[in-house]
Amino acid sequence: MRIEAKAINVSYIRNWIEKIMRENWKHSIEVGLSFGLTSGVITTLGLMVGVYSGTHSTLAVIASVLTIAIADAMSDALGIHIAEESENVHTTQEVWVATLTTFFAKFFVSASFLIALFSLELQLAVLVNIVWGTVLMIVHNYFVGKKQKTSTWGVIAEHLFIAFLVVVITYYLGDWVNDLLAGVDDKI
Ligand SMILES: [Zn+2]
Repeated sequence: MRIEAKAINVSYIRNWIEKIMRENWKHSIEVGLSFGLTSGVITTLGLMVGVYSGTHSTLAVIASVLTIAIADAMSDALGIHIAEESENVHTTQEVWVATLTTFFAKFFVSASFLIALFSLELQLAVLVNIVWGTVLMIVHNYFVGKKQKTSTWGVIAEHLFIAFLVVVITYYLGDWVNDLLAGVDDKI
């Protein structure tokens, strides 16, 4: 009896997975995961580094990462929703699967940067998170590159370079804002 129940369970799961693939949810899930992960890493790293160099405040950095995890995840999900709709090839269900996958991928990826921020000293947490973001990008891009059947390392290098640019630009931007507005609080 127990073996029978297990067999039914496995075939139920297999049917369910086959149903998902047949209905083209695979594309929707890939779109959501890919977009949510990349945007989660780049936006969170950029904002975290910019706010860090601009304020050197743990509270401000944590507040901005939290804002991204919620507000930017919603904004990205809506963006993907509209983009997938305008492709004009997807069913309503496929569009919604992409929308929700984008939201949750972005939410969890962005929120993962909070772990270091809550548990380490700010400067160390920022460095740890830059490494964490880089690892996420490499792993994700490795699979993207493999699927494209082009040079995997070419794809990884290209996307890491963009992430590197974001971090450097936001760092100096934050630093510049800090210099520009230094003492502003005292004047108010
Ligand atoms: Zn599509």
